[in-house]
Amino acid sequence: MATKGTVNVQTENIFPLIKKFLYSDHEIFLRELISNAVDATSKLKVLSATGEATGELGDLTVEVILDKAAGTLTVNDKGIGMTEEEIQKYINQIAFSGAEEFVKKYEGKEGAEQIIGHFGLGFYSAFMVASKVQIRTLSYQDGAQAVMWESDGTPEFEITDIDKSDRGTEIVLYIADDSKEFLENGRIEDILNKYCKFLPVEIKFGTRKQFQDDPSGEKDENGNVKRVEVEVDNIINNPNPAWIKSPSELTNEDYNKFYRELYPMSFDEPLFHIHLNVDYPFNLTGILYFPKLKESMEVQKNKIQLYSNQVFITDSVEQIVPEFLTLLHGVIDSPDIPLNVSRSYLQADGNVKKISAHITKKVADKLADMYKKDRADFEAKWDDLKVFVEYGMLTEDKFYEKAEKFALIKNAEDAYFTIDEYIEKIKPIQTDKSEKLVVLYANHKDIHHQFIEAAKERGYDVAIFDSPLTPHYIQKLEMKLDNVHFARVDSDTLDNLIKKEDELPSKLTDEQKDKLKPIFEEVINAEKFHLSFENMSETDAPIVITQPEFMRRMQEQQRLGGGGMMGSFPEIYDLKVNANHPLVGAILAKKGDNRQKTAKQLTDLAMLSQGMLKGEALTNFIKRSVDLMK
Ligand code: ADP
Repeated sequence: MATKGTVNVQTENIFPLIKKFLYSDHEIFLRELISNAVDATSKLKVLSATGEATGELGDLTVEVILDKAAGTLTVNDKGIGMTEEEIQKYINQIAFSGAEEFVKKYEGKEGAEQIIGHFGLGFYSAFMVASKVQIRTLSYQDGAQAVMWESDGTPEFEITDIDKSDRGTEIVLYIADDSKEFLENGRIEDILNKYCKFLPVEIKFGTRKQFQDDPSGEKDENGNVKRVEVEVDNIINNPNPAWIKSPSELTNEDYNKFYRELYPMSFDEPLFHIHLNVDYPFNLTGILYFPKLKESMEVQKNKIQLYSNQVFITDSVEQIVPEFLTLLHGVIDSPDIPLNVSRSYLQADGNVKKISAHITKKVADKLADMYKKDRADFEAKWDDLKVFVEYGMLTEDKFYEKAEKFALIKNAEDAYFTIDEYIEKIKPIQTDKSEKLVVLYANHKDIHHQFIEAAKERGYDVAIFDSPLTPHYIQKLEMKLDNVHFARVDSDTLDNLIKKEDELPSKLTDEQKDKLKPIFEEVINAEKFHLSFENMSETDAPIVITQPEFMRRMQEQQRLGGGGMMGSFPEIYDLKVNANHPLVGAILAKKGDNRQKTAKQLTDLAMLSQGMLKGEALTNFIKRSVDLMK
């Protein structure tokens, strides 16, 4: 018996529309069909467990079969199957009306491809790549008649009775001329690998030489012509990925193994992991890995994969987790995240907000736990963790609140302190006369070596802040910590950075300074260096070049981006002449151009210690030094 009919839609021909709107993401048709096959299989398992379905379950592997010669791609399951009535209901009425609703609603709108599936368009996405689709199905129900539904992409369909002895559904796609890429092994393998790697039912991918009746015409015991066997086949998925197991079942090696399963191209082992498992107020499972962070944070992003019941959805999770968490790797699986809606909807969704807050909390708790349990190990990992922690503290207040207790500060002696510990340590020595606490820091031990040594000589401690986020991070700390100021060791003289007493008296008279000023002005670039006299100690350097903390931070923040600043900051330095240094006073005793020569020699020495003496200036300096020694 054959039934002809027209599917229940008003829109004349929706298939060209489906094709057009879902244009950017054609490959997801396979995800949709395989998900349906997996669902049908899972449903059968449930029915069998409750006794509603009797009979052997048998092998439940879902097969994906490519037949180049016939130009078909087939998805074959041994699930619950459908009766003719069910086809009428689920395929002709519900699915089609869903498709129609979809098309009407999203006609001409951007992002339509993200909405697929939301309106039961799943099955019809097959028409994005197929010119004809057949459903050959046999319901699990006793005495069911196998049927075939067929449609060529117009709203007309045909249902006929067929012979089919195995329970389940076979969806045969006759791949359209403009979609021949989906007849390529490699292309299908890539799609399966992307979307189906962790589906809960085994998926086998096979290639058939010919997907036709056996050419020899041989018949089986029911008198049907035999089907040709699958030529190559491989199970392509792991139906039991680590994240669905209980943490107590898994060793560290299992977690690392799963990391390699997720990122076969990655050479680094992750630092550690967090196993997520929530069932209230939403369902969420997953494993997050902390990678060793590289200099460039951008390349690290978009590694978290989002799944819904083990079906891969996307690897751009920005809207679901806070930005700093996108530096992590791993998987999140939640049936509660509305996956098929627009990004702006996701941002406003209450569930998504809760999930995001929950993950942030879990990550902070894990770090706090590691810090408490094994501080030495935490310190050893700190250099790899700090960018992540700083990023989180900068962007999420909730994270800051937890992280301020375990975020570490390393000093120039490679000792680690919490923020509170560090403040306690330096309080007695680095509080200035107005009760302000000054944290002296350097970006690198070698680059600021001379300044660090000078600070140590005074009994001061120097912290090392060397992450790319430093300029923003120290600003944040200044905002959060009461009366604490950060100053890079080279941003002024130590006496000015931590003002302890009133200024020393000057050995030079104002008259002498007025005479010295033009001599120095002659030998320096006045646009770049701001000249002043300062009453330092006799044992300090005769001239010190510094860059004001504020100026340098502005420049650094501008380079990092953010802060909303316009224009560029000029590089201006302070050149401070030590009014109490004997060599400075001695200049006035010299005759002729020896005054300028000495002034130049002293400023060059100051430049040299800042790494600013280069090229011709350096050559001249060396020549002059040799001359002076003669
Ligand atoms: P959705 O999966 O979102 O419900 P689909 O258009 O993909 O929408 O499918 C519509 C319905 O058709 C399904 O809900 C299911 O009842 C039925 N169906 C689709 N594929 C299969 C299959 N392989 N086996 C059994 N039933 C299926």
